[in-house]
Amino acid sequence: MSTNTDANCIFCKVINGQIPSQKLSDDEHSIAISDLNPQAPVHILIMPKMHVASIAALDSPELTGHLFQKAKKLATELKLEKGFRIVVNTGDDGGQTVHHLHIHLLGGRAFGWPPG
Ligand code: 5GP
Ligand code: ZN
Repeated sequence: MSTNTDANCIFCKVINGQIPSQKLSDDEHSIAISDLNPQAPVHILIMPKMHVASIAALDSPELTGHLFQKAKKLATELKLEKGFRIVVNTGDDGGQTVHHLHIHLLGGRAFGWPPG
């Protein structure tokens, strides 16, 4: 699997340690970190180590599956039995602000629908 990085990308800097983070998981293909500006009692970002801009730019079913399985595993470990929300903001209309693919795992409170 590619280990592409982008020197100007905030999350690539988190991955290579240039920007400090609170890591919950670190494996060959991904890391999970606490969000800097949490929107719920649990707010974790799961991201691939390789730089890929968004889910729209990711072609690998294996990496897609790995990231979602990781999110689910963390939800189990954090005992989010009452439920949780997984969000993948994509592109401008999707509200994506950091252009390195990441899954938001949110939990610890009830969420409304539809989203804003
Ligand atoms: P997006 O809007 O792209 O879906 O989400 C980006 C998320 O990254 C936001 O929730 C924001 O709080 C978080 N974030 C931005 N910069 C940093 C950072 O340097 N460290 C961490 N841990 N989270 C960050
Ligand atoms: Zn990146």
